[in-house]
Amino acid sequence: MDIKTRFAPSPTGFLHIGSVRTALYSWLFAKRYNGSFILRIEDTDIIRSDKNYIENILDTLHWLGITWDEGPYFQSERLEVYRNKINELLDLGHAYRCYCSTHRLKKLRLQQMIAGDKPRYDRKCRDHTYSMRKSSYVIRFKNPLHGKVIFHDQIRGKIIFKNSELDDLIIQRRNGMPTYNFCVVIDDLDMNITDVIRGEDHINNTPRQINILQALNVKIPNYAHVSMVINDDKSNFSKRDNSLNVLEYKKRGFLCQAVLNYLIKLGWSHKDQEIFNVYEMKELFSLRAISKSPSTFNVKKLLWYNQYYLNKLSINDSLINQFIEHLKSFNIYCTDNVYLFKIINFMRSRCNTLQDLVLQSRFFFEPVNNVDMQLVRKYLFDQSYYILKYTYYKLQNLNIWDTMNITTLLKYVAKKFSVLLKNICMPLRIAITGSDISPNVSAIMEIFGKENTLHRLKKYYHFLKKCSL
Ligand code: GLU
Repeated sequence: MDIKTRFAPSPTGFLHIGSVRTALYSWLFAKRYNGSFILRIEDTDIIRSDKNYIENILDTLHWLGITWDEGPYFQSERLEVYRNKINELLDLGHAYRCYCSTHRLKKLRLQQMIAGDKPRYDRKCRDHTYSMRKSSYVIRFKNPLHGKVIFHDQIRGKIIFKNSELDDLIIQRRNGMPTYNFCVVIDDLDMNITDVIRGEDHINNTPRQINILQALNVKIPNYAHVSMVINDDKSNFSKRDNSLNVLEYKKRGFLCQAVLNYLIKLGWSHKDQEIFNVYEMKELFSLRAISKSPSTFNVKKLLWYNQYYLNKLSINDSLINQFIEHLKSFNIYCTDNVYLFKIINFMRSRCNTLQDLVLQSRFFFEPVNNVDMQLVRKYLFDQSYYILKYTYYKLQNLNIWDTMNITTLLKYVAKKFSVLLKNICMPLRIAITGSDISPNVSAIMEIFGKENTLHRLKKYYHFLKKCSL
């Protein structure tokens, strides 16, 4: 049978690191065995589900290139299917209507808690055959009373639950809506899911779901429960915590390749290898190599991957376009791809995100509009005005505009005025970039081009003159 896996998020919060990692593992497992992967949106909780979250799920998967072969299916569009199956279970005697009032259930719960017992439904309606037409009811699954549920988790090994510990699960609420545990079972069955790969928080649901499948007399899928991802401070991730919204990392200038690589390594390993491209991921991924213990999210490690990919990727249209988008978010508009190529190429080794790249290369796009007096006092000296002016004329006559020739010329100027090269370069840097921190000024001038450099230089020494400096 062909492998078929799924990712089944509930759209009740932004997709966070842990969920996306589960999606990635599920996708890779299917791809590794030439199987298929489906996306199913579990939106039966109408109060907490939100269409912004659905959009967030789709955008996150798109960004990371986690593609689905079927779907997205929406549970809210399959209510009829669940209703039919619930009727089938009722007919088979595996489910029953429970007419107990919420008041009675609350009282029961309280009594059990006072007595130190685990709160659970006492199965009052389980063996009633009557139907109380006018009262509201829920439908419960008749969980077997004895025996055990044993399954072999592909990550955690053999797991055993006693039926005596399981409740008669509600499969349809008073408002007629089927519940999560039921819909999941029916969908996985209908969609021929062979391997259910999901978060460890669902382990306790698994025996309940297996019992429903057994009542329906159908094949049980394989299960793999992936451990949790926890924060640096050991707290659990909350769905509502936006700092973990994976798309936030896109906004902050992380690259999808880095996020994918970080995610696969967060709880999975293959020898000592750190770097994996998607082809290798699909080739090497295995559930057996997933760690059983929780993984700690570490943003520094993610930054390390990002810096790696930012420097390794070829500077193609895709990277340039992403840079353009980040520039736009700082109100910088540039469409000169050749210029952008040179800037990325020159600046990326000192940056770890695209946002950082924008911040560190702003001066390439924004004019220097004033004289920073602090910098003047710190770095300029009596002759600076004349030296800058002299340099300007010398540069004007330079025929081959490249880093090497510019540096040779600057050395010549330094010698002529008997000053150190840095005393030429720093005022030039300030004139051209507006700051005293920047990479090699000759290289910057090459990227700026002759006209642009001369324009900035002239503007600056005119400023100096105006200020009588
Ligand atoms: N919808 C569930 C969730 O978002 C996942 C269900 C499952 O994978 O079985 O936690």
